[in-house]
Amino acid sequence: MNTHGVVTAEPQELINQARSHQRSDFDIVDIVATPISVALTNGSQLAIGRAVKRDAVVVKITTRCGIIGYGEAHHARAANVVAETINTALRDILMPGSALDVVELWDRIYTWQLRSHGLGAAAVIGMSGIDMALWDIRGKAVGWPLYRMLGGSPTPVQAYAGGVALGWQAPSSLVNEAVPLVESGYKAVKLRVGDTAAADISRVRAVREHFGDDLTILVDANTGYTMEDVRRVLPAFQELGVAWLEEPFPANDHRSYRMASEQTTIPLAAGENHYTRYEFARLIEDGSVSMIQPDVAKAGGITETMRIAGLASASKLLIAPHSSVTGLSQAASIHVLMSIDNARYFEADVTPDNPFREELTSSPFSISPEGTVAMTEKPGLGVDVDESFIERHPFIPGKNFV
Ligand SMILES: [Mg+2]
Repeated sequence: MNTHGVVTAEPQELINQARSHQRSDFDIVDIVATPISVALTNGSQLAIGRAVKRDAVVVKITTRCGIIGYGEAHHARAANVVAETINTALRDILMPGSALDVVELWDRIYTWQLRSHGLGAAAVIGMSGIDMALWDIRGKAVGWPLYRMLGGSPTPVQAYAGGVALGWQAPSSLVNEAVPLVESGYKAVKLRVGDTAAADISRVRAVREHFGDDLTILVDANTGYTMEDVRRVLPAFQELGVAWLEEPFPANDHRSYRMASEQTTIPLAAGENHYTRYEFARLIEDGSVSMIQPDVAKAGGITETMRIAGLASASKLLIAPHSSVTGLSQAASIHVLMSIDNARYFEADVTPDNPFREELTSSPFSISPEGTVAMTEKPGLGVDVDESFIERHPFIPGKNFV
């Protein structure tokens, strides 16, 4: 006890346990990225085409003490290229290195690749998977779930039904796809628009009429709209109570975002095609978009997504991360949302037949009757990886959407 009557003696054995690892135990001994694929026979139709296969890039980092971290780098429609970038250019920059030095390793890639060779998407995406794996290692090293490492709480976060689902189809068929999702607990669903104005409006109307006003309806145009399209759909979307319009335009079409935001009270959402805090800084400063959607497997990893969330928080903007395809990044997104003060929604991947969510990893989430998700106390990202799945699903060259 000190002079103020406060117990200061900490249980020494606990401190010793935490110190039992040597720093050199976390030397990186290997970084391997593997592109994997699954073929689809009945993929969803979006503004970017019909999905015919699903790709992913799994990053595996091994440390000297044997702790292994996994991460996902978004496939970027070129999974083999993203994996090769990680296995060559980024690996060369990071090794030798310590898996403990997350920020320092991020900065190495910034210095030697991003700053000096441009914000090439493959490099940032590769870094995202590496950063995720480094955080997985840190959590496993101390036995803590990622959210706790990040200062988060075990409070569940709201989820909406998203992913490559609820696409272009006849209104009645769209309603049929949404029914089991709503019955399973989702209070919000995201519909794919970016088709003709008439088709988009009829689909949103059918879902609104079937489920009533209690269901939150979000729409995503996957960059498929022109300003003229937006002028046509906005009045109906507003009348139908659409809660956000996502990516009406390409990421760098700043003028159209500004013009659209001046014509509607529907919040605009964007961010899945923005990379690093430097691009998000402009998105936030422009003030046109009110829902910020970094993808933890694209924007620069967990480290960078936390920085982006901080930038958004300073402007009172909410975070609804875009979800990539595997249980690894989806778990990471939930951990991040549990750790920030401006969490809005987790994009629950309800993509039919997505073995990257259910078989590559243990299932990353389940929806509660309240429409929420939360990670467990399992250390690191909190999902197990089946290495044999990776071996059994080699990369399939060719188009993702036709
Ligand atoms: Mg989207």
